[in-house]
Amino acid sequence: MRISVGVGVKGIKKAYKGKPVLIDATFAANPGKCVGIVGSNGSGKSTLLSILAGVRKADGGDFLCEDVDLLRCPGMIPRVIGYVPQGEPLMEELTAWDNLCMCCDKRAVKKSLSDGALRLLGVDGFLKVPVRHMSGGMKKRLSIGCSVVSNPKILLLDEPSAALDPVCKENIRRYLEAYKREGGIVVMATHDAQDLELCDDCYILKDGILQAYSYDGDFHKLAEALM
Ligand code: ADP
Ligand code: MG
Repeated sequence: MRISVGVGVKGIKKAYKGKPVLIDATFAANPGKCVGIVGSNGSGKSTLLSILAGVRKADGGDFLCEDVDLLRCPGMIPRVIGYVPQGEPLMEELTAWDNLCMCCDKRAVKKSLSDGALRLLGVDGFLKVPVRHMSGGMKKRLSIGCSVVSNPKILLLDEPSAALDPVCKENIRRYLEAYKREGGIVVMATHDAQDLELCDDCYILKDGILQAYSYDGDFHKLAEALM
């Protein structure tokens, strides 16, 4: 995972049945940095992340990564991006190991379990457990594991800490810090004060526009800015 230049998201637009949700979503992120996107429910955070992940189509805009507009080369997206949507994208009947093997070849999974992301996330502790028997924290760590096992340069996380206990949040935070140290770029939608501590830049998504916000640790002030 190495990325030599930052990524640029420019003028992303999206409307559902003529109703605009994103009017101009623009931001940039450099290697080793985390961008936090905050907005009230329904403001369009998941829409934006799913567009960047290539899951939904934008009505306009660019997503530039190393001189390539990923929105116009969707075939490149899986090689560059890991995406963890709000719900769990896991196969309920399969074990952690089998879910991982659906995302990546077995050799890479084994390597990551011994000294990589999967070890840091603690996925090695519940490899044989079927997803339907997992706690919310195990599912979230496995979902992140599935999306990073192939070493993407950019990681898109949609509310990664929602409903997780403090130990699990800490485990994920430590992993994300390591991911940033290696030069990865994180873009996360979040409402969580602890998540925001990880963010180098913060944006508020309001009325379809991303506005830079200087988060100083005052969560009440942030909530007022969202209103
Ligand atoms: P957030 O993640 O910030 O809560 P979403 O991106 O999920 O916001 O949704 C933004 C708005 O777009 C909401 O009003 C939601 O109802 C609407 N929306 C989301 N997905 C669809 C869809 N597939 N069809 C129509 N409207 C949608
Ligand atoms: Mg959402």
